[in-house]
Amino acid sequence: MEKIGVLTSGGDAPGMNPAVRSVVRTAIYHDLEVVGIKRGYAGLIENDFIEMKRNSVADIIHRGGTKLLTARSEEFKSKSGREKAFKNMQAAGIDGLVVIGGDGSLKGARAINNELDIPTIGIPGTIDNDLACTDYTLGFDTAMNTILDSLNKIRDTATSHERTFVIECMGRDSGYLTLMAGLAGGAEFILIPEIDFTLEEVNKKIVSGFEKGKLHSLILIAEGVEKPFEHLSKYNGSPGMALGEVIREETGLETRVSVLGHLQRGGSPTATDRVIASRMGAKAVELLIDGQRNKMVNYLQHSIGYCEIDDALKDEHKIDMDIYELARILSL
Ligand code: ADP
Repeated sequence: MEKIGVLTSGGDAPGMNPAVRSVVRTAIYHDLEVVGIKRGYAGLIENDFIEMKRNSVADIIHRGGTKLLTARSEEFKSKSGREKAFKNMQAAGIDGLVVIGGDGSLKGARAINNELDIPTIGIPGTIDNDLACTDYTLGFDTAMNTILDSLNKIRDTATSHERTFVIECMGRDSGYLTLMAGLAGGAEFILIPEIDFTLEEVNKKIVSGFEKGKLHSLILIAEGVEKPFEHLSKYNGSPGMALGEVIREETGLETRVSVLGHLQRGGSPTATDRVIASRMGAKAVELLIDGQRNKMVNYLQHSIGYCEIDDALKDEHKIDMDIYELARILSL
């Protein structure tokens, strides 16, 4: 192995920059050349490559987002798109690739491994923490703390006005981010796609909470919750907005909605994200040097290791019912 490529792909996540820095500097330490590919798989197809030196990754360890930029590429999902990417990588002399991204990006990495003669290693980078075979994906801790910060502020105003607040969090189909932020933030309700609930139950509990003397009701809802709203004619894809309207109509309580949206993706990575990103980046390069391919670096029980990309993509959700139950008990 003489020259490796590195790219960030799909949804950005805080921690991608420290991971890129670690890949570049570990590779240089092992006398490898490094090529940065801009805008993920789109850059592979468009030949948007830059030489990465020690200095190329200076001053990025504390920055959110990704210096290499990221994108989604429909063309890469086709065989002809991947062939273009392969030709560009061959021409640039890239003989190993590190892909930092979420499940879609890992599917792309698997396709490169299976179809093209370029060993590829994945690093899990998504605020959703929704991949199997790893306890952690880069960006999760920063995003959770961002939600927590917002929740603390909303709690102040909710208490002062004795209001009900619905806060919609990201996570795509997964409720993990919402659950953990809800436990850490002491939310009264945590509504996630993995756990069935009815709107009647929620309304009843809010009313009885105020009757018991609660000063506010903080409801965290994951963006992936759909089922309880499907029958509503006005449902426009935001479960938070829909829930706010239902509560207002059914209980008459003053209810406000905050959709946190892309706030949750930004911000300087936390210490946890920087440490794990640094360790994962180094591990990815070591795996390439060892001749591995089709692997994803993982983090299990505080150790950095690796698994098959195939296994990481298995549909295993991470919701721990004990944690859900604990959050419910603590919000009594
Ligand atoms: P994330 O990596 O955050 O989950 P996406 O799901 O949007 O983000 O995936 C990022 C990119 O990965 C896509 O735009 C596409 O280029 C590539 N990709 C996704 N699925 C596949 C697939 N099945 N085969 C090849 N490439 C894929």
